[in-house]
Amino acid sequence: MTQAERLARREELRADIAKRELELEQMRAEESRLLEGCEHLYSDGRGAATGGRVKICSICGRLLKARDEKLWG
Ligand SMILES: [Zn+2]
Repeated sequence: MTQAERLARREELRADIAKRELELEQMRAEESRLLEGCEHLYSDGRGAATGGRVKICSICGRLLKARDEKLWG
């Protein structure tokens, strides 16, 4: 492998890494959006979340944070 080939390969890898990082970032953003809540409804149209300050969806069991509450981290 010549030096020119190495440099070309490095540029390829860098472009690839940047692309993967963007994809990862998008996936992480999607992941955190998914954890923010769910849209399960009972058949009568009411939200399926039950509980008091901490709500849990009775369909998927997901823990739902209150709207005015921020999760740590
Ligand atoms: Zn749910």
